[in-house]
Amino acid sequence: MRAKIVVLPGDGIGPEVTEQAVRVLQAVAKKFGHQFETEEQLIGGAAIDATGSALPKQTETACKQADAVLLGAVGGPKWSAPEAKVRPEQGLLAIRKSLGLFANLRPVTLHPALMDASTIKPEVLKGTDIMVVRELTGGIYFGEKTRTETTASDLCSYSVNEIERVTRVAAQLARQRRKQLVSVDKANVLETSRLWRSTVEKLMKSEFPDIQVEHMLVDSAAMHLIRRPSSFDVMVTENMFGDILTDEASMLAGSLGLLPSASLGAGTLGLYEPIHGSAPDIAGKGLANPYATILSVAMLVRHSLKLETEAQAIESAVSSAISEGVRTADISAGGPVASTSEAGSAVVARLSQ
Ligand code: NAD
Repeated sequence: MRAKIVVLPGDGIGPEVTEQAVRVLQAVAKKFGHQFETEEQLIGGAAIDATGSALPKQTETACKQADAVLLGAVGGPKWSAPEAKVRPEQGLLAIRKSLGLFANLRPVTLHPALMDASTIKPEVLKGTDIMVVRELTGGIYFGEKTRTETTASDLCSYSVNEIERVTRVAAQLARQRRKQLVSVDKANVLETSRLWRSTVEKLMKSEFPDIQVEHMLVDSAAMHLIRRPSSFDVMVTENMFGDILTDEASMLAGSLGLLPSASLGAGTLGLYEPIHGSAPDIAGKGLANPYATILSVAMLVRHSLKLETEAQAIESAVSSAISEGVRTADISAGGPVASTSEAGSAVVARLSQ
């Protein structure tokens, strides 16, 4: 198959980790006989320096014409002054909005060799394999905001259509997994949550009767996530609850350097990125863990290019590199330390076998 992939390296460790991810993408193309054309574009601080905008028009156009977008990370102290008018993060929000990416997928799986990297006990973590789906373009983050000297407000609103489309994404994922969906809301207090719950209920009954659905209040979900993480399969929730729960869930895995994410819309075009930021403290030193970005490439070929075998090949190559001790500093646990490019080479080598 032929595919065009726009690569947005961004700032800090972004260029280092995307470089390794692109090597892996090309190794997969070679192994399975595909042609993946990659094209680099600017975003974030790098784009501000070059053009004055965090999302130049040229980047936006290229992304819209691509089959998928791979992003490193944006941001850093250089662009963080409180008086700054343009910020790198605006580029990220703008591209998600422009591509209509309403569902953010964050899988949390644990590599058995890295159980000790988490602050949660290994016996509690054992078997954890969760897919959290967060609504990304609605809710309180996008509602009308007001501010006076003494009061402030943020409007939270959701429509049936917004709830249905993200629920469909989550339910389809559940269908390919253990067929269990937990929908998280705050229906005992919030009107938007009551609409969320009844919409999910109706949609699941009519379109996904084979999936078991449980509704859980967000406070209870936050507690159960660390109490019995292995009992969850797919979780779906609104924007702000998802923002908080995905960060909580990511800590089950112990390291930011291992977790990928995907942001999807109505079609197959998606944006794939590691969940970590630009890590300015280690940028340019060859210390960054590239596995999260490489695993984001696995999600890219799975969700945008529909190449499941290729996705699994990347995931097993990463898993075997970790098992065989190819670990960057953040996951080394006192053993030998691999550099960013050594970790990338280990995955490429396993894919080429
Ligand atoms: P961060 O994720 O960049 O770093 C947090 C800590 O984790 C740091 O100590 C860092 O060295 C370490 N770390 C992160 N990724 C790593 C990797 N792949 N390998 C090894 N260690 C890794 O978060 P932060 O320090 O809060 O933010 C730094 C900058 O990144 C800020 O400008 C922030 O706005 C931005 N940021 C961007 C994104 C994004 O692009 N999606 C997400 C979060 C933060």
